[in-house]
Amino acid sequence: MQKIKSFTINHNILQPGVYMSRLDYFQSVPIITLDIRLKRPNIENPLEMSEIHTMEHLGATFLRNHLSLASDVVYFGPMGCRTGFYLLIHGNHSTESLLKLVEDTMEFIAAFEGEIPGSTAIECGNYLDHDLKSANLSANDFLSKLRVIQTRDLQYPG
Ligand SMILES: [Zn+2]
Repeated sequence: MQKIKSFTINHNILQPGVYMSRLDYFQSVPIITLDIRLKRPNIENPLEMSEIHTMEHLGATFLRNHLSLASDVVYFGPMGCRTGFYLLIHGNHSTESLLKLVEDTMEFIAAFEGEIPGSTAIECGNYLDHDLKSANLSANDFLSKLRVIQTRDLQYPG
């Protein structure tokens, strides 16, 4: 089988940031796949399962309620390696608006207090495995990294 594109990038030189992982066309409709990379692969500790799970619930809630872009959000979910998230979004969007969307999502997660949306046994497949405090902190930590990123063109290094 062919190696899929996301396995061909060099994870050893990947820094935290936001990257355009793919741009696919389905019957001429563009779908952007963003790589939202919170942790340096194989160097930093990945996110804990409980915090990435909470960040997924909060991120999805924010994105699917977004005033102008909710209808373009196809999918938001964690990477299996627990170093970040994929966000699939429909349509043409400027680099600036995509970065703003990611920043706004992280700000929402960083500031969230109270009951985690969708975290009852009826709504979630592993409802006890959540950690709001760590989710707040990791989102905040990523925001501080995003604010000092030099290259904001969504291009992978190398
Ligand atoms: Zn869940």
